[in-house]
Amino acid sequence: MTRLLFASPLHEARLDVDLEELARTIRYLAEADTAGQRWAEEKDYWGYTSYASLDDLTTRDPAIGELKPVLEKEARAFAKALGWDHKPKLDHIWVNLMEPGAHHSAHIHPHSVLSGTLYVEVPESAGAIRFEDPRLPMMMVAPLRREDAPEHLQPHVTIAPSPGTLLLWESFLRHEVMPHHGEQERLSISFNFS
Ligand code: FE
Repeated sequence: MTRLLFASPLHEARLDVDLEELARTIRYLAEADTAGQRWAEEKDYWGYTSYASLDDLTTRDPAIGELKPVLEKEARAFAKALGWDHKPKLDHIWVNLMEPGAHHSAHIHPHSVLSGTLYVEVPESAGAIRFEDPRLPMMMVAPLRREDAPEHLQPHVTIAPSPGTLLLWESFLRHEVMPHHGEQERLSISFNFS
């Protein structure tokens, strides 16, 4: 028999929220937040993100304020599924507008326990999100996995979300946004729980 040890759970849900209102909010911030625009330009981010410029979106914007309890409920459910003796608290929430051609290289979210993204607008051929097995650096001589191996044995798993999809994962899980080959903007809202 084979026992499965050290799982990397991923929480996936479909949120019943007003995506049109959230899209308006993201586009408004992308127009109005000059500090965020400057940051994106300095970092060569193709589009706009409020990641480094705004830390009060839940009180600044009513649509994001309404989203907060919804995300907290999902995070509590996920924490329970993870067997945690800990209630995650929303720490930072930011919006992202990716222009065609954008990508976001592999990264983790330090100083957090749970991280996630709600997908608001996902045009055709938009960049998917790809997760990496956190043990990959230890697999110097491990054989390659067959392409038809089950998902939980693959070193990378790519997920193409649709609008309304929420993904939540443990913050140490490295992930990247693959190149956005679509022709329209890709809108999302990301967050960290501490
Ligand atoms: Fe990320």
